[in-house]
Amino acid sequence: MQHVEPQVFLIAKTAPDYQQIQGWLDFIGADKFEIPSAESTSVGSLLVTLAGKRCYLSYQTGLNLNVTKVRQDLTAFIDNILESAHGSTLEHVNYTFALENVSRVFTAEFNRHRAGIAVSEGSFRYIRFDEHIDYWIPSSIQESAEDSPEIRQAKADSREIFERAFAQMQENYRDLLQTWDYESLKQFKEKKKLTSLFRRIIGMGVATGGVWTGNLRALRHVFTMRCSAEAEEEICYVASMMLERMIEAEPDVFRDFHKENGYWRPKHWKV
Ligand SMILES: Cc1cc2nc3c(=O)[nH]c(=O)nc-3n(C[C@H](O)[C@H](O)[C@H](O)COP(=O)(O)OP(=O)(O)OC[C@H]3O[C@@H](n4cnc5c(N)ncnc54)[C@H](O)[C@@H]3O)c2cc1C
Repeated sequence: MQHVEPQVFLIAKTAPDYQQIQGWLDFIGADKFEIPSAESTSVGSLLVTLAGKRCYLSYQTGLNLNVTKVRQDLTAFIDNILESAHGSTLEHVNYTFALENVSRVFTAEFNRHRAGIAVSEGSFRYIRFDEHIDYWIPSSIQESAEDSPEIRQAKADSREIFERAFAQMQENYRDLLQTWDYESLKQFKEKKKLTSLFRRIIGMGVATGGVWTGNLRALRHVFTMRCSAEAEEEICYVASMMLERMIEAEPDVFRDFHKENGYWRPKHWKV
């Protein structure tokens, strides 16, 4: 049994094909539109702009005679997309996160987000826990300098109860392995049946992990819901770490998120 910290890895994102983009823009006659380089522009800013501008053919004036001026600045263009809730353009770009040391409390809630999200989560039917059942100590029972002596004591007692509960779970899990003489089993099918049974005695606080992919619109929605003061503490903690990575990776699409009383809030709630 070990205490662990949730970990966020941003492992993949949509990759634009610049040659094909140029071919497409030439085909539709957008010959004056300068494709921003990969060095100067994120994939989100690029694809959201290309998709948004396709709607009105607003890459340059003259292409659609109704368009007499165009926004050259991508940041201003994307601000306008967020302002006008033209959110479907954000769905063209995916980012993939690997999350580790998150609990089943976290995944049970996070996995409720279905629209625009793909999930692959560690399977307790296959993974066995005889080595260690790890868990995160929630922020609400971590030590803080601001605590009164009573709260400090209550937190210390709670941590001890958590410790005891997880140690007990681990012992029970090992007892089950022995009861079924698990080591002697040869067939994978038999092992799977038993690990599937044993997982029932593990508490929701157990650390697990997986891979989550979301399009930019879905991610904005998830962060709006889950980085707020009303959200469960672990999901808020992890979602806030994910959001910080996205603000760095896609500043145009996420810069309207700002901190208020310690929690991230977007300027544009529904895009
Ligand atoms: C503070 C909080 C408390 C919660 N408490 C509970 C609880 O007690 N019990 C419980 O069961 N759940 C609870 N939830 C989960 C909540 O009900 C949602 O299931 C979860 O937040 C997923 O969000 P979403 O519905 O926006 O889905 P997403 O899949 O993230 O969808 C994004 C948006 O797409 C649209 N959309 C998605 N699917 C459909 C659809 N099928 N039809 C029409 N429009 C769709 C909606 O506009 C939706 O907001 C809670 C969530 C929060 C944030």
